[in-house]
Amino acid sequence: MISRDKHIFLFDLSFPQLQELIKSWGELVFRAKQVWEWTYKKLAGSFDEMSDVPKYLREKLKQEITFTHLTPHTDLLSSDGWTRKILFDLHDKSQVETVLMGYEERRTACISTQAGCGLGCTFCATGQAGLQRNITAGEIVEQVLFFDRVLQLKDAKLTNLVFMGMGEPFANYKEVMKAVDILTDPNGYNFGARRITISTVGLVPMIEQFAEEKRQVNLAVSLHAATNELRETMLPINKKYPLEVLIPACRDYTVKTHRRISFEWALINNVNDTREQAKLLVKILKGMLCHVNFIPLNPTIGYKGQESTRENIRKFREILTKNGIPNTLRIRRGIDIHAGCGQLRQEAARRNKILHT
Ligand code: SAH
Ligand code: SF4
Repeated sequence: MISRDKHIFLFDLSFPQLQELIKSWGELVFRAKQVWEWTYKKLAGSFDEMSDVPKYLREKLKQEITFTHLTPHTDLLSSDGWTRKILFDLHDKSQVETVLMGYEERRTACISTQAGCGLGCTFCATGQAGLQRNITAGEIVEQVLFFDRVLQLKDAKLTNLVFMGMGEPFANYKEVMKAVDILTDPNGYNFGARRITISTVGLVPMIEQFAEEKRQVNLAVSLHAATNELRETMLPINKKYPLEVLIPACRDYTVKTHRRISFEWALINNVNDTREQAKLLVKILKGMLCHVNFIPLNPTIGYKGQESTRENIRKFREILTKNGIPNTLRIRRGIDIHAGCGQLRQEAARRNKILHT
């Protein structure tokens, strides 16, 4: 049942919910199909664009359903033109960041799954600011469509989606999975599940649930350290789910799904880029169907660590490669527009403070 006390948001509706709603107005069900296709196939920017829906029905849709929750607050393009980042105001003034990255044939959107994050990883700008609220499936979906509409104007489209913006996707599991279901609906937006990646800080019960669901969506786990001692100084959640429960859960995931798991590792100078950490990492990942993604630390206001030197990165990766652990060094994009997780909101808040004090 759709709640009638709150205003309904279009992108929160699954197709059956949209059908139910339109039917409850005494309309033929195929109208729901029309609206769904305008929304997800033709990427309409308003109900008015839905030209084969009768005018009276478009008016009713406008009255009953909110078309957008996202209002751009800050919109930045990197100097190389390849990265665009938008800080959106939601209708209640909480905020999310969404980044579009272009690289050769790829157009990747980095989507937020919460407004802020309550998990407090020390080096993360989002974690430094705390949680505002969970966002809804529709607020996740709208971030994606917003960028795809922009790309459509240039005859391009999104090729990849990563849930690596603000927030912990597995702390908002239900809404994130509903968004995935809406985005991958073959009769609608039809985005390939294999081109979606969800990144988690390591909420073990949700990793287990995700493994059971056997979705085609890729899973990445933010590891960043190979000992509990170090990991819990960076990611407080490690106290609740230490490596001895996290790593077996990751292994089980690969066994159950036959899918490769990715590990994220932000390289921080003389913190987690040592020979000792590399060797321990090899030990814990040995034999697992996995891949390690390295990224040099993005500097943030609240964390003193620096990115690793090239030499340290080279040596660290060499140890992994020699031991048969596939790994990639990701390029950091859009530094000049604060494109790291949560950084634009941090910068906007800092400027605000400067302006208002
Ligand atoms: N909450 C999820 C997804 C969002 S963060 C998670 O933690 O996995 C996406 C990725 O960015 C994570 O791997 C996170 O550890 C990393 N990250 C956060 N702050 C960073 C920074 N300052 N530099 C480099 N990577 C960072
Ligand atoms: Fe939250 Fe992920 Fe940032 Fe940690 S790294 S604070 S889990 S968004």
